[in-house]
Amino acid sequence: MSHFLDRVETALRDDHLQGALHSATERLWSRRSAALDGLENSDTIRDMARRSKLGLLRDLAGNLETFEKNLIRNGIKVHWAQNGKEANRIVVEIARKSGCKRAVKSKSMVTEETHLNHDLLEAGLDVLETDLGEYIVQLAETTPSHIILPIIHMTRQDIGKIMHNRISVPYTDSPEELAKIARVKLREAFLSADLGITGANFGVIDSGAICLVSNEGNARLVTTLPRVHVAIMGIEKLVPSLADLDLMIKILARSATGQKITTYTSLVSGPRRPGELDGPEEMHVVLLDNGRTNILGGDLAEILGCIRCGACLNACPVYKNIGGHAYGDTYPGPIGAIVTPGLRGLENWKELPDASSLCGACREVCPVRLDIPRMLLKLRQTGVEEGRSPFTLKFIMKGFGMVVSRPWLYRLSARWGGRLARVVAKAGWIHKLPGLGGGWTRSREMRAPVAKSFQDLWKERGSTGSPTGGRGKNG
Ligand code: SF4
Repeated sequence: MSHFLDRVETALRDDHLQGALHSATERLWSRRSAALDGLENSDTIRDMARRSKLGLLRDLAGNLETFEKNLIRNGIKVHWAQNGKEANRIVVEIARKSGCKRAVKSKSMVTEETHLNHDLLEAGLDVLETDLGEYIVQLAETTPSHIILPIIHMTRQDIGKIMHNRISVPYTDSPEELAKIARVKLREAFLSADLGITGANFGVIDSGAICLVSNEGNARLVTTLPRVHVAIMGIEKLVPSLADLDLMIKILARSATGQKITTYTSLVSGPRRPGELDGPEEMHVVLLDNGRTNILGGDLAEILGCIRCGACLNACPVYKNIGGHAYGDTYPGPIGAIVTPGLRGLENWKELPDASSLCGACREVCPVRLDIPRMLLKLRQTGVEEGRSPFTLKFIMKGFGMVVSRPWLYRLSARWGGRLARVVAKAGWIHKLPGLGGGWTRSREMRAPVAKSFQDLWKERGSTGSPTGGRGKNG
């Protein structure tokens, strides 16, 4: 896989990507603000949702046991998977035992995390994504670049070309025509599939049910038409009761897409019962750990309260510029910068926590008020303590520490550094810095320092007022 900084460079040079990202994230951002403004007591609801999610994590093992008991009571078969490979193997075994050959899937980030499609195809199963965005991702043989809008990086012209090239339909960039073509293809698949695969937005403990939210209605077809339904769910996705689910639903759609409620909210609580007209003959839930218990035992446990709304992506100045693929794994943006090192280890993902300006916009918009900047700082601290910072950075930080802890040295360096910078500047601006500083001037210029420092001005003005012309501390 390419290096993080190379992927960032590529993304920043891609004007097409920049345009698509900016307009989509701005639109989502303003819709979210309007939707939350219109929700009465939204602050209280967010506080209650946070309490509910984090409270549940305090006894995750006990809550999972109760959830399992209630699922079984509803006729659902429960499986436990330590990691992604095991989860995929369980799904393949279920398909083999029940003679399934053709799977349809609804949108699920957790199955992206386990690379389920790859393993299903390898096992000889046909698998088709039925969420429109995921269908395009599958046709393009790429990966989602946003946790809510998988093709946020594409234009309708891109989609038209992909459909034309991959399924040999006449080129069009009309959204209505493209949706019509996809609908025909997907309908055929729904009717011939024998296995339906979903994730789970929430697992409701007291009801022994999973909750799925979607805007296209495909999740309902995936869970009712095929004779076998398998849901893969991260073990952190629990809510205690329907009352808690109500809180989550209120904030999820508003934060994700700016809707008051997602178009389809389904509670799935078991296979078809005698006398019922639809629903699968078998239903399975695979509860996936894949590193989540490690996160639970550490300083990042709070991140398991995430309800995957994607609002922090749309608010993040870094995500808005580099998009999802630059992060290199399933979960992009601020949430990914914590979850990916948490699930996969910091060693290969040490740059991700640095991909943040720590402006706090993510914490501001997070519906469950997760303190994302605190967790990013914690990961950076761990990286430094484990000696993962580059040698040059360590050297520079050591030198910086030495200078700022000695006032005389600081004054001397500031004076001579300033003079040098003014010599190389042109019309007050420095166009190219050497060494690590070159990263700053690669895409912007730096103002040359002014001739007189703050301390010089302070001294000159003595007690007559502040150097900036203000009225002093008592003014
Ligand atoms: S961290 Fe918060 S804002 Fe980001 S996806 Fe999760 S719930 Fe949404």
